[in-house]
Amino acid sequence: MAKRGTRGAVTRFAPSPTGLLHLGHAHSALFAHALAGEGGRFLLRIEDIDRGRCRPEFEAAIYQDLAWLGLRWEGGVRRQSEHMEDYARALDALDGMGLVYPCFCTRAGIRAEIARASAAPHGPDGPLYPGSCRGLGDASARVAAGESHALRLDMGRAVARAGPLAWHDREKGRIAARPEIFGDVVLARKDTPTSYHLAVTADDGLQGVNLVTRGADLFQATHVHRLLQALLGLDVPEYRHHRLLADASGQRLAKRHDSLAIRSLRERGHTADEVRAMAGFGEGPCRP
Ligand code: GLU
Repeated sequence: MAKRGTRGAVTRFAPSPTGLLHLGHAHSALFAHALAGEGGRFLLRIEDIDRGRCRPEFEAAIYQDLAWLGLRWEGGVRRQSEHMEDYARALDALDGMGLVYPCFCTRAGIRAEIARASAAPHGPDGPLYPGSCRGLGDASARVAAGESHALRLDMGRAVARAGPLAWHDREKGRIAARPEIFGDVVLARKDTPTSYHLAVTADDGLQGVNLVTRGADLFQATHVHRLLQALLGLDVPEYRHHRLLADASGQRLAKRHDSLAIRSLRERGHTADEVRAMAGFGEGPCRP
């Protein structure tokens, strides 16, 4: 993994248009922009694979709010919903390596299976998928019959194929990848033919992002992304996971914090300078 200098990075901000951007998003966007540095490139990606939760008005608000904050992104915006063929290609490649299997389980079925198990291992996202569909053998007839299914990565085989991996985090240094803590992750959901892990990894590779910046809540996801990069032959970016902003009571900001939405702050008369300062960038009062 080549070490890169601090200048000229290609970074991105990758929000999902499922609500209004709040101060935590402002922090994330300003962070990515700052780390692109002089001569670097700051890209914007709209992560809209979840068609049920994404709304065009939230996407329009993202463009307006970022522009109001003074952020300019380079080139066109990459909207994930317009690139499903890229994710299909990545899935095909993994399938060709024998690392993908269809999973017909329902959420309730998985919960019941986990409840029956005497010891259910847990990962960063909760109990691991117990692997019920991993050994089904040839399930092509069920797939051909249109039975609803997700596609999962056979984590054991994937890790064995890739061998030991690591990534470089600009704050924490060399991190040994441990994707197995997630178990057989979903690569394509029942309702959409990709997943967060697959789409983000493919996009960062395809967009030439060489420094991935995002919240510390996604630190663990990087274990999976590093594995997918190795399997798909993608360049390995550096990483920097930033702190998460909290409200006055210490609760992490989320989309339900409407009063801390960039838009609400603007409507209450705060200037862009003030909002940047509230998000941890620049001078000005620090409390909303
Ligand atoms: N779309 C994700 C979010 O809004 C960010 C994904 C990433 O940066 O990898 O939290």
